[in-house]
Amino acid sequence: MSISPLMPVYPRCDVRPVRGEGCHLISEDGRRFLDFAAGIAVNILGHSHPGLIGAIQRQAETLMHVSNLYGSPQGESLAQRLVDITFADTVFFTNSGAEAVEAAIKTARAYHQCAGNAERFELITFNNAFHGRTLATISASSQEKMHHGFMPLLPGFRYADFDDLDAVKALIGPNTAGFLVEPIQGEGGIRIASQAFVEVLRELADEHDLMLVFDEVQSGVARTGTFYAYEQFGIKPDILATAKGLGGGFPLGACLATEKAARGMTAGTHGSTYGGNPLAMAAGNAVLDAVANAEFLQSVCDKGERLRAGLEQFIGNYPDLFELVRGRGLMLGLKMKSEPRPFVAHLRDNHGLLTVSGGDNTMRILPPLVIGDAEIDEFFEKLSAGAESYRPEEQA
Ligand SMILES: *Cc1c(COP(=O)(O)O)cnc(C)c1O
Repeated sequence: MSISPLMPVYPRCDVRPVRGEGCHLISEDGRRFLDFAAGIAVNILGHSHPGLIGAIQRQAETLMHVSNLYGSPQGESLAQRLVDITFADTVFFTNSGAEAVEAAIKTARAYHQCAGNAERFELITFNNAFHGRTLATISASSQEKMHHGFMPLLPGFRYADFDDLDAVKALIGPNTAGFLVEPIQGEGGIRIASQAFVEVLRELADEHDLMLVFDEVQSGVARTGTFYAYEQFGIKPDILATAKGLGGGFPLGACLATEKAARGMTAGTHGSTYGGNPLAMAAGNAVLDAVANAEFLQSVCDKGERLRAGLEQFIGNYPDLFELVRGRGLMLGLKMKSEPRPFVAHLRDNHGLLTVSGGDNTMRILPPLVIGDAEIDEFFEKLSAGAESYRPEEQA
């Protein structure tokens, strides 16, 4: 037997975390890392947040799981809070981002099909998007590396270039159900949709009775300095998928929708065994307690500004390595002159700094949202030392 017990679908590195302390991870061999990856935008409260731990502990002792055959005071409370602070009127809870996107796709299709428009099933999606690894969500992405070996794809997705309105308009037809888009592409390399692009998508959706579906799985839950990134564009989607930061490390996602958009999602049309269970709801409520307030959101903006300003200054010293800085709040990308993976590995292995690579030669900087000045200082010390000692030709 040569296959590993863990199905070998990830190229795992040799950091083996066994403990988390605030914004740091400690590995099996005792090494300590500054975690500016945060489980890929998940651990927004860091790794040992007392409020989150306490809420999960209390709920685990009280009631961990019941089926969705019963009423859910815990779910009603978290759904009501999300409704109160967003565009949405109603919420479906999931256990992951891909499931949240799946629910969003079904909601958009059902919007048309429950009204007798069976032909309107196509979502226009975008090149280099990432929506998850289920069959529907890989079908929604143009990235062929995720398709290999998994054919046939699910029909009903047409790809346009991100931020290209002419391409979008050319694809709108009698089969179009809506648009599925990340307002800020995460895996794609922290690429922000332009203001005009988002505004016109909203106008086109209104004009053609299409669903505007935002995938905010990575950009959501205070990451960009507002609770969701759509707020910064001054428009509202009809449907939104959220996850990652929502449970702060506990698996939790949600599909948010307006009453109108959810008109097809009636009793019996969708479901999930675990989705919205009391333990997940306790985690989500604890995360919202910490981040869903003006003061916290402002702190994310302030820290994001500080990091960005520092990064702008930093890259000026290494014009051969870095091209530009982009992003919003604490969802930042450092675009490099070449593939970022070797530099990410160098920072990790030689300087104890964790970041994540992304598309478009971009290194992603996604720290816990609770970082303070001390962590920002430590980040720049490690990053500068890393850039100083980096020899691209010596890296694998
Ligand atoms: C991570 C991510 C997903 C998938 O989330 P999973 O929890 O891994 O299923 C979907 N969309 C975006 C934008 C993401 O960043």
